[in-house]
Amino acid sequence: MQGENASAATSEKKRQWTADELCRYCKGRGEQVCSFCEGTGLFVFDDSNMVEQAHECPNCLGDGTVKCPACIGLGLADINGILRDGE
Ligand SMILES: [Zn+2]
Ligand SMILES: [Zn+2]
Repeated sequence: MQGENASAATSEKKRQWTADELCRYCKGRGEQVCSFCEGTGLFVFDDSNMVEQAHECPNCLGDGTVKCPACIGLGLADINGILRDGE
């Protein structure tokens, strides 16, 4: 008896991150609302004539969001495990 076992091993595992694995500071988004401009992207100040001047926020460069410092933008809680590439 001859059994044919031609199984193409093309099962690529796609990892689904659980809530535990996501960065809790940015909830997995990899970015946070800029604390400097609170998401407006603008840095407003009064000049010497008390005139309001709006400038691009120097912290987020006008984006209103900054890369999450906790996960360096990866959105994952355990970035060390990822960076270590332990498999
Ligand atoms: Zn900002
Ligand atoms: Zn994060």
